Amino acid sequence: MGCYELKELVDDVHLQLILATPIPSNTTPDSVYWRLSENGEFPIKTTTWAAHELDIKNSPSWEYNWIWHLDIMPKLKIFLWQLCHTSLPTRGTLLNRGLQIDLICPLCNVEIEDVDHLFLRCSAAQEVWGLPNEHNWVCINAGTNSINNVQNWLSDLRTSTPLVPLDRVVALLWSTWKVRNNIVFQNEKFNSVATLIRAKKVSVEWQIRHKLTQSLQPLNPRFSTTNPKKTYWMAWKKPPEGSIKLSFDEFKSINSSNIRRLYYT
Ligand SMILES: [Zn+2]
Repeated sequence: MGCYELKELVDDVHLQLILATPIPSNTTPDSVYWRLSENGEFPIKTTTWAAHELDIKNSPSWEYNWIWHLDIMPKLKIFLWQLCHTSLPTRGTLLNRGLQIDLICPLCNVEIEDVDHLFLRCSAAQEVWGLPNEHNWVCINAGTNSINNVQNWLSDLRTSTPLVPLDRVVALLWSTWKVRNNIVFQNEKFNSVATLIRAKKVSVEWQIRHKLTQSLQPLNPRFSTTNPKKTYWMAWKKPPEGSIKLSFDEFKSINSSNIRRLYYT
């Protein structure tokens, strides 16, 4: 294509940019290059960064990255991440996305449902927050009128004095969301006590799982000072053809002289 034809297609600014393109001296074939990454490859996270207008050349620091470091169930982390980014599908959020739906909160049937109303200002939410205070499970002031923004409130709680058990707060938020969904999709009735019990249950379940996992993990010889013995891992080997293999382990309790054997094949 000659310069005259190019002039007809683009304005002067773009024409100069095109003409300024260096012509490579070698004959390297053309290839697809993703301009939002340094190496031209396509990591999907760069599209998220671009959508949020973040610095795509350097990994952006997310305001709510602390969520991933909480000692809570993964499903609660995902829930909290959605809550903090206003991506929980509350009726207010769905309206902002163009859906024509009933906006009224399904818990109180009075006000518009958005995250701040649902988790803080709703009369049902305030009833839920009152219970753990009474039972001394979580002592916080979530139901007061001075708190209007759930994201800011959570960020403040992280540095509050005395420290608030954030895992329990998240469990209550999650349980409130569950009861809301059960009302909307299964026609259940609101029950503040059941909401608290569900929160306690998920919190205890995680603690038990955590303790079980820790008790099953071998001590790391690099960091262990109490057990200097090395841990040896042995793979199970198939016995020779025509023979039966009996594997067993034994241990001795500190307070007992009994030696117990654990058989497994
Ligand atoms: Zn409400």
